[in-house]
Amino acid sequence: MSAQFMTKIISILISTALVLGTITGFNIPAKTKDASTYHKSEIKNVIYLIGDGMGFNHLEKTKAERNIDLVMDTFPYDGQSRTRSFTNRVTDSAAGGTALACGIRTANSAIGVDPIDKTPKYSYPKNITELCKERGMMTGVITTDDTTGATPASFSAHSSDRGNTEDLTNDQLTSDIDLIWGHANGVATKSAAEANGFEYVVSYNEMMNLTEGSRSYAQFTNNLWTLEQSDANTPTLEQMAVKAVDLLDDTDEGFFLMIEGAHIDKHSHSNDSEKTTEATLSFDRTIKAMLDYAKADGETLVVVTADHETGGLTLKKGEYKYTSGGHTAVNIPVLVYGSDKIVSGGEKLNNYEIPIRIAYTLGFTEDDFPVKVMVK
Ligand SMILES: [Zn+2]
Repeated sequence: MSAQFMTKIISILISTALVLGTITGFNIPAKTKDASTYHKSEIKNVIYLIGDGMGFNHLEKTKAERNIDLVMDTFPYDGQSRTRSFTNRVTDSAAGGTALACGIRTANSAIGVDPIDKTPKYSYPKNITELCKERGMMTGVITTDDTTGATPASFSAHSSDRGNTEDLTNDQLTSDIDLIWGHANGVATKSAAEANGFEYVVSYNEMMNLTEGSRSYAQFTNNLWTLEQSDANTPTLEQMAVKAVDLLDDTDEGFFLMIEGAHIDKHSHSNDSEKTTEATLSFDRTIKAMLDYAKADGETLVVVTADHETGGLTLKKGEYKYTSGGHTAVNIPVLVYGSDKIVSGGEKLNNYEIPIRIAYTLGFTEDDFPVKVMVK
């Protein structure tokens, strides 16, 4: 057998093994390198901001129409994420959120569960909130959507379908998360929250009166998307974020906080240009507050991304126009402060690699995340 022929056989064997490994292995990330590459000892806290539906052109449109710069453009490290789900080229917020929370691809509509074992009967993927909590970190999930909306649910629950509001609420209320705040979902009750050790909060004043060491479940009744406080009872996303960090940042173990700006997606679905811009500005203002905190703190990683683009915003004859009332498959931004290892220089990565790299940056390894939790 010639040396050339042997070389060819060996290369075929290696590529077959790689392909099989990708198909049969649990989530072998395409390009994410081994965990030690990402470790950064000075990172203690993570603030993970998700602009639901926010594509690159949402940023460009906002800047062009308001003639302003966005804080999002000042991040030192940037890349872009591919968002397809296990089942669909165009993801929904459930599969998109699950990728960003659990480090796996799942089916559209599924929340924090495997695409094949959706019930789940055998196992489900651990989310990064649970991972951080197990290490003793404080954890929080805040959103302008319902608390059981697809994105916050992906960080706090496991269920076959995003519409299972009772299941999602039950998972949240029996979780170890320190704070879960958002719009009222119509299912969660004060008595259920209190029975599980949460203070039940419905107004801005009650939120502001929370003290360190308390756990809280907020169900705000009014719309939460505007840039300014709409009434004395309804906080902005920025106010929620600042108060949440204040409550979470008091331990040596650090904290993990997911913050969702949900209305970029909602207003893009209805092609409401003004409100889309307002929601993008509300999100950017929240990011500024979190970036200011991280810069002063020196131990905080800030990651900004989206779950998918909504509206198909396209520049036509000098104006940004919607080309869709739904989600699209375009890549979306990933912006990072605090580590050059998550992304840099416009790198393209898969959405599910983002939480894996965040976990590695906190010092976790391949054995810790992503992992399956066996159902008892
Ligand atoms: Zn949507």
